[in-house]
Amino acid sequence: MELYSGYINKLIEQFAKLPGIGSKSAQRLALHIINMPPDHVEHFAHIMVEARKNVHYCKNCFTLTDKEICPICANLKRDHKMIMVVENIRDLAAYEKTGKYDGVYHVLHGAISPMLGVGPNDIKLKELVKRLEEEVDEVIIATNSSLEGETTAMYISKLIKPIGVKVTRIASGVPVGGDLECIDEITLLRALEGRTEL
Ligand code: ZN
Repeated sequence: MELYSGYINKLIEQFAKLPGIGSKSAQRLALHIINMPPDHVEHFAHIMVEARKNVHYCKNCFTLTDKEICPICANLKRDHKMIMVVENIRDLAAYEKTGKYDGVYHVLHGAISPMLGVGPNDIKLKELVKRLEEEVDEVIIATNSSLEGETTAMYISKLIKPIGVKVTRIASGVPVGGDLECIDEITLLRALEGRTEL
């Protein structure tokens, strides 16, 4: 016997497809939507559609933005000669939240993983090398301390050092296999300050 009618079930199914949403949460969210004023639901749906339509990668660092260049890259007060390489946008957000880093970023959108069949060409590495045609003093590799993150760090180091750019790696105060985004700000700052040259 079906508990709910068609549309409620469809809504629950959609929510359940989202990351971190189990069937109970999906049900709770779906019922919440049903109880919302219709114009709020329309506004919510509209924002989702427009965000999906207008948001793309920054031409420079590959974070998400709805401009051609993201606000970090467009900020002239930041040190554009210091590039921190992160695996994903959530890691960028974690460092940005500390408010203590004033360089710019480069988002790889993944890490090299021979096991998962992710090679150097599957992440934004060529794009990073291209950025080094401009004057850059330091590339800080802030990939995770997982096997994939370390593999990626070594690969980048070998790729960039011959160009003559200083390459550093954040300190491994970061728990092994830990996602950067889950780590508190103090640990992140310590990892950044304790970075060593590769
Ligand atoms: Zn950018």
